[in-house]
Amino acid sequence: MQGNPVFMERAIALATENVTSKRGGPFGAVIVRDGEIVATGANLVTATNDPTAHGEIVAIRNACTALKTFQLSGCHIYTSCEPCPMCLDSTTPFSMKR
Ligand SMILES: [Zn+2]
Repeated sequence: MQGNPVFMERAIALATENVTSKRGGPFGAVIVRDGEIVATGANLVTATNDPTAHGEIVAIRNACTALKTFQLSGCHIYTSCEPCPMCLDSTTPFSMKR
């Protein structure tokens, strides 16, 4: 499946901004539905003392809040790195691009 480079660039930019702002590690994610960004996230593990606050998980949480649902079918996620097993499993309910 071919991804949109604009969304990938946004995920990388989020990762870069996260490091330069000293909020967390170099991990960003963007969730897209119907060609529009519905949510973004960046790694907040150290900022929030939450070991599950990986960029992908933060983006998923933000997307569920924005869309007022726990189901993200039809959404695609773009990540700045290869997702860990926790994040990969969390994207199972919807298709994923990276
Ligand atoms: Zn992860």
